[in-house]
Amino acid sequence: MTGWVGYTHGAMQPQLMSGNEAIAHGAVRAGAGFACGYPGTPSTEIVETAAKLSGIHAQWCVNEKVAVETGVGAALAGVRTLVTMKHVGLNVAMDPFMAVSLAGVNAGLVILSADDPGMHSSQNEQDNRNLARFAKIPLLEPSDSQEAYDFIAAAFELSEEFDTPVLLRTTTRVSHGRGLVVPGEPVELQPRPYTRDISKYVMVPANASKRNHRALQRLEELRARAEVSPLNVIEPGTIDFGIITSGVAYEYAKEAFPDAWFLKLGFSNPLPYQKVLEFYGKVSRVAVVEELDPFLEEQIRALGLPVYGKEYIPAEGELDQDAVRRALEPCLTAEPPARGPVTIPGPQQLAPAPAPALDVKDLPILPVRPPVLCPGCPHRAVFSTLRKRRMVTMGDIGCYTLGALAPLLALDTSLCMGASIGMMAGFNKALGKKAAVGVIGDSTFFHSGITALLDARYNEAEGVVVILDNRTTAMTGQQGHPGTGVHPDNTDGPAIDIVRLCLGLGVRVQTTDPADYKSLEKLVREEVKAPGLSVIVVQSPCILYLPPEKRTVEVVDDNCNLCGLCLAIGCPAIAPLDDTVSILDNCIGCGLCADVCNRDALIMHGLNEMAGV
Ligand code: SF4
Ligand code: SF4
Repeated sequence: MTGWVGYTHGAMQPQLMSGNEAIAHGAVRAGAGFACGYPGTPSTEIVETAAKLSGIHAQWCVNEKVAVETGVGAALAGVRTLVTMKHVGLNVAMDPFMAVSLAGVNAGLVILSADDPGMHSSQNEQDNRNLARFAKIPLLEPSDSQEAYDFIAAAFELSEEFDTPVLLRTTTRVSHGRGLVVPGEPVELQPRPYTRDISKYVMVPANASKRNHRALQRLEELRARAEVSPLNVIEPGTIDFGIITSGVAYEYAKEAFPDAWFLKLGFSNPLPYQKVLEFYGKVSRVAVVEELDPFLEEQIRALGLPVYGKEYIPAEGELDQDAVRRALEPCLTAEPPARGPVTIPGPQQLAPAPAPALDVKDLPILPVRPPVLCPGCPHRAVFSTLRKRRMVTMGDIGCYTLGALAPLLALDTSLCMGASIGMMAGFNKALGKKAAVGVIGDSTFFHSGITALLDARYNEAEGVVVILDNRTTAMTGQQGHPGTGVHPDNTDGPAIDIVRLCLGLGVRVQTTDPADYKSLEKLVREEVKAPGLSVIVVQSPCILYLPPEKRTVEVVDDNCNLCGLCLAIGCPAIAPLDDTVSILDNCIGCGLCADVCNRDALIMHGLNEMAGV
């Protein structure tokens, strides 16, 4: 174990705390500096408690998706971060939840799901342990207030060591039950430096598939850690009956069968197979006691080990000690079940490197054609401008994600649809300064950027949001969206005005045309320096949606010294020659290359001029 701080309690007096209060106090003790969430029973009091503590910033977000995105931004900024929600909230947050599993974190990121067995205040019953497995991330399950306090520290440690978000799952009785907590000595932490890593944080397919591969490897490393973790303990008993359990179900089972052997799993995903096998060597009868789904049971059965499980223990509602006692009493005197061969699965097979389909020696040499913004794409001017500011740039999903690729290299992140604004807000809030900007397309803004902007305004976030309004959903083939009002049958509906919408949120809004490169640069420069939150709407149609007036570019060879400024904008219509550049036939004459050239080596010629007018 490295750096495990969970059980180093000081000489401080025990305090009576609910599980929720213990999580908030435990997070602060573990050095967390940022907490956010959306209220939902039984999780609500965590953020409320954190808000009263010093050393941590706590805020409500407009929903759980924005909360996770904001939390990811804060963790990337280098500050340990806790994001809280109830079980159904994680459904709302699934998009960033799944993506951050692949991207990983910088400082520790713990996502807390408080499940509500019995649906005391929920529309459904759902066992979110399954979502940790689904997302390939570690799962910790405290069973009382002291463990809630301790496990949050363990969760941050695991998160940073394995570069993964951690799911901390509580249930109503852990969240709201009260118990004595022995506090620990606070951990003093400085923010971890943020390092730009496009291959890690920009989830374009080529990067995401490598990160997915890494997440699968990480899972096996985590399983090895779960085997030796002090959170997973075998408690000896005096009868030939063993119980495997986790979370609050441990408390019920311990009270019902104090003489039984216990395998208590505080770190329950990935399942420590060898620990389970070791436990089976102690007793001849084993039951699994868990609330809701047969999460542990099915994995143990899959090893070939017999269990008393959901055929005895209710699969719905809350358990209690009487229910557990009544359910399992027949098993104490039952004939021990026969045991067949046990199979411990090895690490999952990862995809082999693809074999070359043809012998490349026999092929003509073909030019490499990486994905690239179209010649004349209006986004290029924005990225050329932002790159000069050298700020952290939170990107989003659309054609403009290509701004992350060489030679532009203008984006730091692209997590999931609509994540840019929340990540920008979290990053800046965690550092207390305007260190990041956000870039989002018009269609993505309507998809889920609106709520994040609303949140940024409500939480008084600092930052500049650049909305690339190209009047269409370009990447998928020019579909309509609320900003255009265009329906799939090409009929017109009401079009929502982005500028008025943003103004309605009380945000400072400016518009610009990327064709006016100098004005764009000036505007970005000013807004980055100005305090508060602002929006720049960059208005220029996608060239495939509305082709611009045709112009041509003349290269003045004598003026060109091949400095590379025009090549750095990444336009596929410019190519370097030996001592100058060449403009290719696919140029649409947008003029950006001429704007960035400071030696008058590229001269634009308009239609009128071409016609001799
Ligand atoms: S389709 Fe439109 S928005 Fe997308 S890269 Fe081409 S010009 Fe830019
Ligand atoms: S004008 Fe320059 S930047 Fe624009 S499409 Fe032509 S070569 Fe590319």
